[in-house]
Amino acid sequence: MSSKRGLLFVISAPSGTGKTTLVERLVQILPNLRMSRSYTSRAIRAGEREGVDYHFISRTEFEAMIAANAFLEWADVFGNYYGTAAADVERMLTQGQDVVLVIDVQGARQVRQRGTDHTAVFVMPPTYPVLEKRLRGRSTDTEAALQRRLETARAEVSSYREYDYVVVNDDLEPTVVRLQEIIAAERSRVHRMTRVADAIVRTFFGDTPQQA
Ligand code: ADP
Ligand code: 5GP
Repeated sequence: MSSKRGLLFVISAPSGTGKTTLVERLVQILPNLRMSRSYTSRAIRAGEREGVDYHFISRTEFEAMIAANAFLEWADVFGNYYGTAAADVERMLTQGQDVVLVIDVQGARQVRQRGTDHTAVFVMPPTYPVLEKRLRGRSTDTEAALQRRLETARAEVSSYREYDYVVVNDDLEPTVVRLQEIIAAERSRVHRMTRVADAIVRTFFGDTPQQA
């Protein structure tokens, strides 16, 4: 167990922007970064696995978790419940792991309102037509569901000012690099570096034998 607490990152983007693709790449590259596994009441899709993509639970079970105050944040997205279990995130942070929540705009607002220490990144598609093309390319939706995602996207893009960083997902790999840079910058903030920096400062004041 590490004595250093991990950092919490929140990533939001309109559906189809590529946030899942980006974060899956990020966690492959950064060994200390873990994606939080959300709970959802939506039906499991072909190819998805319980406990891997989500914890799939019933609406009743989800409502019981809401009543028990088990969620750091939760939201109704496209008619289904989605939420992040507070205990899961806390356990990983306490173990010293950095955690990324891939959540919608409503969920990100709740994390902010709770005053939880975190860094929030909004990912944008280069344009609306590109978003539509990506959603159609993914081809997991009916036309009606696709139109609903596009409508929600229109409402969500204007929220980018609520976030700490904005990243445009044009080409995938440069965008992954940009997200890595944000994580590195956050780790280097003065208030997170005091232990390391103070140890270095002490070497200037006789903490280690003088070098010749
Ligand atoms: P989200 O999680 O934001 O809903 P996905 O990660 O499922 O989005 O990506 C939506 C679609 O766009 C997928 O088919 C994915 O392969 C594709 N995609 C993601 N990022 C890019 C990119 N930078 N350039 C082109 N296609 C992308
Ligand atoms: P999907 O059903 O396509 O997997 O996800 C739909 C939307 O739900 C995405 O925009 C995603 O960001 C959001 N989402 C997934 N998990 C959570 C969660 O735990 N909390 C919130 N607020 N949104 C989530």
